[in-house]
Amino acid sequence: MKIITPTAIEELLTARAANPDAALLAGGTDLLAGWHSGGRRPEHLILLGGVRELDFISVRGNRTIEIGATATHSRIASNSIIRRFLPALAEAALSVGSPAVRNMGTIGGNIVNASPAADLVPPLIVYNALVRLVSFGAMPTSPAKPVSTSPSSIPMESVLARSARKSRGKVRGDAQRIFAGRDVPIDRFYTGYKTTDLRKDEVLFSVVIPVPSRSSFARYYKLGTRKAQSIAKVSLAGRIEIVDEVISVAGLAAGSVAPIPLRLRAVEDFLRGKRVTESLVDCAAEELRLSIAPIDDVRSTSAYRRFVTGSLLRRFLADACVAGDAPARAVRGSR
Ligand SMILES: Cc1cc2nc3c(=O)[nH]c(=O)nc-3n(C[C@H](O)[C@H](O)[C@H](O)COP(=O)(O)OP(=O)(O)OC[C@H]3O[C@@H](n4cnc5c(N)ncnc54)[C@H](O)[C@@H]3O)c2cc1C
Repeated sequence: MKIITPTAIEELLTARAANPDAALLAGGTDLLAGWHSGGRRPEHLILLGGVRELDFISVRGNRTIEIGATATHSRIASNSIIRRFLPALAEAALSVGSPAVRNMGTIGGNIVNASPAADLVPPLIVYNALVRLVSFGAMPTSPAKPVSTSPSSIPMESVLARSARKSRGKVRGDAQRIFAGRDVPIDRFYTGYKTTDLRKDEVLFSVVIPVPSRSSFARYYKLGTRKAQSIAKVSLAGRIEIVDEVISVAGLAAGSVAPIPLRLRAVEDFLRGKRVTESLVDCAAEELRLSIAPIDDVRSTSAYRRFVTGSLLRRFLADACVAGDAPARAVRGSR
């Protein structure tokens, strides 16, 4: 196996373009586990750990938070910005595996590995995150500038602009080749069980998350067999805003209930615009149970998953009401 060790983003993207069948290795916690259980080993392996530009957490003008692909679960769980503005993501990162796995495993690996049980994905869905994908590609027409449509993209733009300038100088006779990027809503990134929209020449650069409003309440709940080293039997992320006892924003996503991490769109639509009452909570839990089709597997049964996901929703709505206080009486009995 040939191992490639880029130390800068331009080297990484060049190596990726030249070796489309190479595997990318970030923390290696999924990749190596797959090899140990008989998975196919690639001829080329590209290590992401030396690429400093991928390891960051930054806030842009109080509007977006951008997390680099190789930020580890430990770093995300302990980061004060994430804990304050994206608490459900911090809770999810803290729930991953064990300290050793959290110190090695990255947000990029968790997303691209595309497990239906990936802990970080449901919170990222409810926070309306975009995955930022970059490649070293041909740009047939001018202008030759790094592509990004989002105003929140300063870290990638500056990194890629610098990289593009350097590489245009280096790649003789190939001045049209520049770095390109695209942003994909994370709930559209998954195309099926363990498959994604990532092209063979692309790398996940970062995740961009709009900063939620201050009145937003968000939580992540995970049911596993044990407290540590446990993949979710079922997980639920919720984000809600309640104004005058009426739900104005509802974001819900679940893990391990479908082939992909699932946005619970029907339940979100059902909740939006309604007053929080005990009967609403009962109906929403029932709606959720009807809208998922979990499977039986080694970790759990379909019936248990369906039942317990509804219970997690009841718990989330009760917690939201207690946090927001006013309608707490309505659902306190649901906990
Ligand atoms: C003992 C154990 C316990 C675990 N517990 C949990 C758990 O509780 N919850 C959970 O969600 N997961 C768990 N995992 C799975 C794993 O730790 C996480 O999914 C982790 O986030 C993967 O990140 P990584 O950096 O190690 O990925 P890697 O193994 O390096 O990569 C995983 C996949 O993503 C691709 N990839 C990585 N980075 C990029 C990038 N920037 N661009 C494009 N492709 C990329 C790789 O090519 C590979 O296909 C566990 C794993 C182990 C071994």
